[in-house]
Amino acid sequence: MARRWGPYTNMKSVLAQEPFVIDHAEGVYVYDEKGHRYLDAHAGLWLVNVGYGRQEIIEAMHTQAQKLAWFSSFGGIANRPSLDLAEYLVERLSPDGMVAVFFSNDGSEAVETALKLSRQYWKIRGRGTKTKFIGREKSYHGVTLGALSVAGISANRTAFEPLLADVRHTAAPDVFHCPHHPGDSFCTGGCIRELERLIGFENPDTIAAMILEPIQAAGGVIIPPPDYVRQVADLCRRHDILLIADEVVTGFGRLGDWTGSRHYGIRPDMMTFAKGITSGYMPLGATAVTREIWETFRQVPGDGPEFRHGNTYSGHPVACAAALANLAIIEREQLWLQAREIGPYLRKKLQEAENTWPQYLSEAGAEGLLGRIRIQGGTDAVEPGYWGLQVQAEMRRRGVIVRVAGDVVTFSPPLIVTADHIDVIISTLVDSVAAIF
Ligand code: PLP
Repeated sequence: MARRWGPYTNMKSVLAQEPFVIDHAEGVYVYDEKGHRYLDAHAGLWLVNVGYGRQEIIEAMHTQAQKLAWFSSFGGIANRPSLDLAEYLVERLSPDGMVAVFFSNDGSEAVETALKLSRQYWKIRGRGTKTKFIGREKSYHGVTLGALSVAGISANRTAFEPLLADVRHTAAPDVFHCPHHPGDSFCTGGCIRELERLIGFENPDTIAAMILEPIQAAGGVIIPPPDYVRQVADLCRRHDILLIADEVVTGFGRLGDWTGSRHYGIRPDMMTFAKGITSGYMPLGATAVTREIWETFRQVPGDGPEFRHGNTYSGHPVACAAALANLAIIEREQLWLQAREIGPYLRKKLQEAENTWPQYLSEAGAEGLLGRIRIQGGTDAVEPGYWGLQVQAEMRRRGVIVRVAGDVVTFSPPLIVTADHIDVIISTLVDSVAAIF
C-alpha cells in the first residue's frame, strides 16, 4: 500500500488507516474484501452507466483480446473494433452534427485533443491569431496541462501554475452562488453578459474555442438555468469561436439523451467523451468533430500527418470492443429513459431530504441522474468541506458510496438504478445527517 501513490489522495491519512479495498461488484453494488456490500450512488466515478458485472462486455473484451489484444493504429493501420466503433458513434451522434472521431485513452486526452484541434483548425483556415481558450470557473476537464489550464477548480490548479497563458475563465452558472442574481434559478442574464463582455474585451479574433461541460459535474453538479447552455452556444457561433462540449460525464444517457448537448438543444463543434463510453470496463477517450473541422483538416497539403498528434493506444481494440458491447446495452435497454424516469424521483427525494433537515441541507437539485445537495454545519469553525467529508464517511459506514465537492454531496448512480435504490440512498443521507448533527 505504501508504494501505491493514489490519485487525488491524501496519502498521510490513507496510510494511517486500513485500506478500503473493493474486491468485486455486481449491478449497483460493490463489495469490499471483508464482504461488506455498498450501494454505489456514484457509478464508480460518474461512469458505470450499465452497472457492474455485465457478462456481455466482459465476453466481448475476452474474445477480442484472444484474437488481437493490441497492434499500433498509427499511419493508416487499423483494427476492426475501432473502425466499427467510429462508425457506430458517428451514426448515433449525427443529430449532434458529428462526422468523425479521434480515439485516445481517457477524458483528459480527449480534451487535450480537442484543444489542439482547435488551434490547428484556425491556423489551417488562415486565422492563426485565434489561439486563446475560454473555460469556466468550477469546471473540471482533466489532469494534463492543457485540460487543467482550461479547467476552473482553483484547488486543483494552484500547485502547477503557471498554466497555459492563453486561457480566460468566465463565471459558472451557479444559481446558488451567483454574483449577479443569487438564488434565481431561471436567470442567465448575468453569466451571459459577463461572457459577452469577456469575448469583446479579448477580441474574438484571438479566441480559438470555448469549452463547457453541459452540467459541471466535479465542481458540484452545477445545474445551469434552462436556457444558459443554448445562449453560450449562440454567443460562440456569433463570434466564430469553436464550442467544445465536454461530455465525459454527460455523454451516453446520464441526462436522458445520448448527449448533454442534445438535452440542452445545442450542436457544438466538438464533443469529448470517456467514462460512460465503456462504462469503465476499459479506459477509452474519444473526440468527435463536425464536417467543417473534418474537411478543414483534409485541406492540409503534403504527405505527412494532417494532425500531428496521437496516443500509442489510440483506438485500442479491446477498449473499442468493450465500448461497442457497452453501447449496445445502453441502446437495447434504452438506459437514457431511466435517467428521464428516475431522475425526477431523485430530485424529489433530495428536495424532501432538504425539507426534513433545512438547517443542515440546502441547494438540492438533480437533472437526469446527476444530483446534489449541500451540507451546512451548525458551526462555521471548521474548514470548508469538513461536513461534506463527515457525511460521505457516515454514508459509507451505512453502506452507500457518494462523492463530495467541498460540502456538496453529489449523486451519479448507474443508469440501471431503481426508485427503491434511490429510497435507500436518500434515507441513508437523512440518517447520516441525523447521526452527525
Ligand atoms: N472532463 C470531465 C467533464 C470530467 O469529469 C473528467 C473526469 O472526471 C475529465 C474530463 C477527465 O477525464 P479522465 O479522468 O478520464 O482523464
